[in-house]
Amino acid sequence: MTETFLGVPVDATTTEAALEAASVAVEGGAPLLIVAVNPEKVVKAERDPDLRSFIAQAGLRIPDGVGLVIASRLRGGNLRTRVTGVDLFLALCERAAKTGWRVYLLGARPEVVSEAASELARRFPQIAIAGWRDGYFSTEEAGSVAAEVAASRADLLFVALGSPLQEDFLRRRGAQTGARVLMGVGGSFDVLAGRVPRAPRLMRSVGLEWLYRLYREPWRIRRMAALPIFLWRAVQRGS
Ligand code: UDP
Repeated sequence: MTETFLGVPVDATTTEAALEAASVAVEGGAPLLIVAVNPEKVVKAERDPDLRSFIAQAGLRIPDGVGLVIASRLRGGNLRTRVTGVDLFLALCERAAKTGWRVYLLGARPEVVSEAASELARRFPQIAIAGWRDGYFSTEEAGSVAAEVAASRADLLFVALGSPLQEDFLRRRGAQTGARVLMGVGGSFDVLAGRVPRAPRLMRSVGLEWLYRLYREPWRIRRMAALPIFLWRAVQRGS
């Protein structure tokens, strides 16, 4: 089921359903593009037609942010659980380790992506890492980066360049990589490499990860201030 926030569609999905969709894509279905949508991205997409059509065309738009779930509840919608980008990324890697899907990590600083790859191998010893590379390359180099991914025969491609760079890369170069499942994962490699600690489990389980991030990275206040405005408008408008 899909619910629309300020004109931006989000899928009422679960981690399990997302893993199933990924499995279909790897086993010969159409390539699957997964986009993590949060209130901040919804507001951005309202003003940015490229981002809006990118989200609209994605195969799966996961509700990454408690703000979407709250807005949905307030207006009697059908989004009940959030699926965060970092959790789905890890769940896909766990599944990849069990099934032999090959994983490519693209993005973050060189030492961060290499640590993220080692950490994945530590957590999931069976995982086939097809390759990794950092996210600091020019627009001119993007074609050869995509060719590198294609040569690695990766099934899953995780792109951690932040927004809007990762969306641009996926839009322009995604098909060229040959990956079956493509997902933008923002700062997830930094989290995996232990550079940005996650909130304590209890805070996460009650939907307060954002408060913890604010405590760690106070500069996010400006980005987060958009949330109450988003809630108000999304509930008023109802779609
Ligand atoms: N990054 C990158 N190339 C760039 C700019 C940023 O690889 O040219 C990486 C950066 O090192 C970090 C991630 O992109 O790992 C951005 O994380 P952030 O949490 O800011 O993502 P967002 O909140 O935009 O999803």
